[in-house]
Order: sequence, then structure tokens, then C-alpha cells
Amino acid sequence: MRNLLAAGLLALALVACSGRPSSSPSSALRVVTTTTVFADIVQKVGGSRVVATSIIPPGVGPEDYEPKPDDAVKLADAQLVVSNGVGLDNFLDHLLASGTGGETQRLVLGDGIPTITVDGEPNPHFWLDPMLVKQFYLPAIVTSLSAIEPGGQALYQANADDYAAQLDTLDAELKARIDEIPAANRRLVTFHDAFPYFARHFGFELIGVILANVGQDPSAAELAALVDKVKAAHVNAVFSEAQFSPRLSETLASEAGITHVVTTLYNDALGPPPADTYLGLMRWNVGQIVPALK
Ligand SMILES: [Zn+2]
Repeated sequence: MRNLLAAGLLALALVACSGRPSSSPSSALRVVTTTTVFADIVQKVGGSRVVATSIIPPGVGPEDYEPKPDDAVKLADAQLVVSNGVGLDNFLDHLLASGTGGETQRLVLGDGIPTITVDGEPNPHFWLDPMLVKQFYLPAIVTSLSAIEPGGQALYQANADDYAAQLDTLDAELKARIDEIPAANRRLVTFHDAFPYFARHFGFELIGVILANVGQDPSAAELAALVDKVKAAHVNAVFSEAQFSPRLSETLASEAGITHVVTTLYNDALGPPPADTYLGLMRWNVGQIVPALK
């Protein structure tokens, strides 16, 4: 009987333990990020000493994100808040200004990264160039986590070094795949303006974007001008990001006589597997772009 009781208690203890992943002990450093992409990268650096969660859920974009009541609760509990800045996740400043998490340590990943200016605005989508993640995001994450928890510094640095090596592998793999596209076809038309760093790094020309400002549909005249530009550039395909409705991309493609519309790129938010990690997202996107432009 005593053995049975012990077995029962043991089973209960196991159930209790399994409710919390072994990689996230209760003493883990609590990091809240604005997007799922940053949560994944911070988690890779933090490893078992960190639990990183995103305010914005998978599949939702940051530029027009409307904070939910729960978001303030998540922020209030965070020891470090990680955002991108440069206009990507301004909702966070509004949330923090409203009084929640005002004392929390912050890391703004875009601070100090030279920007590409598009239509007079510095563009925030640095992470679509994996070498910017390696050069800027990773060291900034190591510094911020180590400042809060100096005992974790060696682990954070080792994890970041390991991840940097994975980024090098990713980069070489993506470049080899993109080499399959004839140089004259390396032209992108996308839904929103997420690809300037990607295009610069991987050698694409950006022909145009459908949505100059997220949350504001183009006028009929703007769309007509883009149709002319796209026709003149002889692009093979129109791309749209999964966080947006494909309606306007399909309209543009049909008016420009383009039959190939890819509506499943991921950039500001992770998607379903295999795009449920940053590395997976990059591989997925290039896996969609290459066959469409070949
Ligand atoms: Zn974006």
C-alpha cells in the first residue's frame, strides 16, 4: 500500500513536471519580445536559462498590431523586453507609456544598424538578411541577457556562436539556391515593404510594393502605376506575405498579366512548420521564391 501511494505521488510529480517544459525552469529569465521571429532568436541564444515569448501571435504582423489586454500582463511579468524599433513595433512604446513594464530592461535590436531608406522612411526589416542577425542581433542579445544574469554569459555566448554558425550555413545554402534564378529574373514585387535588406544581400531588384503603408490600401491610380511598372520590368511572379489578404496581389497579377502569385511568404511573423523558426522561415521563403522566378 505504501508502495502504491509512493508510486501515485511519483506519478503526480511527473505530471506536475511535464506541465512545464524541461528547458524552462521556473527560475528562467523571462523575456518578452514583440514578434515571434525575435522570440525564436532570443530563445536560441538563451537556451535553458531563458523563456522567450512573443506579444504578437504567429501569423500576425506588427505594423498594424492592436494590443490586447493580456499584453500588459505579459509585459508586467517580463525581465527583458525585446523589440526591433525603427517603426516596426511602435505599439510597444504605447503599451509601455500606458504604465505597464515601464521599469523593465529593454533591448531594441535595430539600434545602431545602418538603415536602408525607402520612400523617405528607414526600413525596419533587418532580419531578412541573416548576416545582419549574426552581426547585430546576436551580440546585442548576448549583452542584454548577460547584463541581467552575468552567470549565464558563457552559455549565452556559446549558444550565439553556435547559432551564428547555423546562420552561415543557412546563408550559403540560400545563396546557392538563389543562383538557380537567371540574373535577369531576380526581381521582386511584394505586398508590403519587408524585403530591402533581403534584396540587397541576395542580389534582387525590388520593383515595387503594393502596400506602401500598412493599414492603408493603395488608390486605384497607385495600383495602376504599379501595374505599368511591373509590366515594364517583365517580372515573373507577384509575392504576398501570409499575414495579409492576397486579394490585392491577385488583382495586381491579373491586371499585369502575371499568372504566378505566391501568397505564402513569411517575414514579420513565423508561420506553421516548417516556417515556425527563423531558420525555417528563411528556407521556406527562398523555397517559394526560387521556383516562381526560375
Ligand atoms: Zn513588416
